[in-house]
Amino acid sequence: MPLYEYECPECGQKLELRRSISDSERDIKCPECGKGILKRILSLFSTSSSGNGGAPGGST
Ligand SMILES: [Zn+2]
Repeated sequence: MPLYEYECPECGQKLELRRSISDSERDIKCPECGKGILKRILSLFSTSSSGNGGAPGGST
């Protein structure tokens, strides 16, 4: 199962979570402050493309 890194925009908390591919798209509330929705940090492959924040699979 892939390991994702998340960051909370509210408190800046960072954490790593192992999640399935389908689960990775679901919102996760920050366990630290309980307010922020964790943003997934794309630490890998993030330089290959920019401006494309959509889900893979296409919706054209
Ligand atoms: Zn937080």
